[in-house]
Amino acid sequence: MTDRTLMIIKPDAVSHNHVGEILKRVEENGFKIVELQMMKLTRAQAAEFYAIHKGKPFYGGLMDFMTSGPTIPLVLEKANAVALLREVVGATNPTVAEEGSIRKAFGTSVQRNAVHASDSPENAAIEVAFFFGNAAQN
Ligand code: UDP
Ligand code: MG
Repeated sequence: MTDRTLMIIKPDAVSHNHVGEILKRVEENGFKIVELQMMKLTRAQAAEFYAIHKGKPFYGGLMDFMTSGPTIPLVLEKANAVALLREVVGATNPTVAEEGSIRKAFGTSVQRNAVHASDSPENAAIEVAFFFGNAAQN
């Protein structure tokens, strides 16, 4: 199976109508969209998804933001998908993200940075299963 990674189009990008442009960039970079849904996260879901950041100063604000409106989790397939998507997405802080990256184009703050991308193959498998179940890994 080709490598898979999880992306989330975050509430800021959905509310600002950047979904089409973000999906276009994903496809133009050679990723195959193999799963996609729109959903508003509950606080419990956001807390579980970002559990690794619990206790950090930005955690409460991140929960508020991630539950503020619909998100679009999607599963992307490509050789070396995890590392390549992190490159296409860019640095966490949009102001220092690389020119041409999705966060540079659509992020407006370190919190409201338009998209999530899994940071390792191990976390990608966990995050894909979180939204789409184990069937999405077959
Ligand atoms: N975040 C934030 N303030 C910070 C750092 C991160 O609000 O100082 C948010 C931001 O939305 C980021 C998410 O928390 O995407 C997860 O942080 P992480 O360091 O894992 O960045 P990422 O892996 O998304 O680049
Ligand atoms: Mg991260």
